[in-house]
Amino acid sequence: MTDLIKVENVKKYFRVRGSLFKTLKAVDDVSFSIKEGETLGLVGESGCGKSTLGRVIIRLIEPTSGHIFFRSKDITSLKGEELKRFRKEAQIVFQDPNTSLNPRLTILETLTEPLYEHGIHLSDPEEFITQRLNEVGLGREHLYRYPHELSGGQRQRVAILRALLLDPSFVVLDEPTSSLDVSVQAQILNILKGIQAEKKITYLFISHDMGVIKYMSHRIAVMYLGNIVEVASSEELFEQPLHPYTKYLLSAIPIPDPKYTRLRKRLEIGGEPPSPIDLPSGCRFHTRCPFSMEKCKKVSPPLIEVEPGHYVKCWLYVKS
Ligand code: SF4
Ligand code: MG
Repeated sequence: MTDLIKVENVKKYFRVRGSLFKTLKAVDDVSFSIKEGETLGLVGESGCGKSTLGRVIIRLIEPTSGHIFFRSKDITSLKGEELKRFRKEAQIVFQDPNTSLNPRLTILETLTEPLYEHGIHLSDPEEFITQRLNEVGLGREHLYRYPHELSGGQRQRVAILRALLLDPSFVVLDEPTSSLDVSVQAQILNILKGIQAEKKITYLFISHDMGVIKYMSHRIAVMYLGNIVEVASSEELFEQPLHPYTKYLLSAIPIPDPKYTRLRKRLEIGGEPPSPIDLPSGCRFHTRCPFSMEKCKKVSPPLIEVEPGHYVKCWLYVKS
């Protein structure tokens, strides 16, 4: 499989309001790639920079530095018409459909708007949108409803369809089920999987939920305070997590599978992540890591490939 997306040394820093000297390093020197047709899961606690990274990749916000490649083309500084063309290819679904859908537009208006924006004219919009609504399990009866007349799950189906209307090849799914009831979550995840299987879309699936990430992802990248600390196939990450933070995330979730109880018991560490404005020196995880050494407090470890396709950013795995 070839890379659809390649991210190289991307940083996104924000100036902290009210302070001349402080910056928030939301994304700090991140590199990875996403293959065509795969789902890369991006997991980490809230505030670790996942959403910012997702928005930077599809150029909703500008990176501070670094490069983003889409089909080997550097899209980091696309503007105007070129950026508009890229927008057709790369879409995003946000966590909360209540705020991402315009309450004053009917579903038909919501869904025709992006088409008109891209100069696509429909001879029979009602028929066209009805057909497409079927893809997310909705139908003609929803055309003239307003978002408040739909359930949360139905609203998120509309938001997903809006992202898919222009037949993108890449979609960022930013916690698409986190605001929904558990029973509805599974339906939405299955719709997303079905659509991917049919249309070969590439997903970046962002979540703080390890169970959801495992269900959805072919490969997983673990993020901690602006850094990617581990990348591996979904299987390998769950069976052989290397980074202490990944082990911590896995030990914090109940997975009804005896294969993983061993991991669950192995690492019980706690504490809240430090503020991304006052980052710890050296390895950013050293304030919470039970394996922290002197070196960890001073020098940040490199992200190295320890097995083919398995990357980790931790001094425990650097042979000296
Ligand atoms: Fe823990 Fe050190 Fe590895 Fe950081 S580099 S995760 S502090 S052992
Ligand atoms: Mg987020």
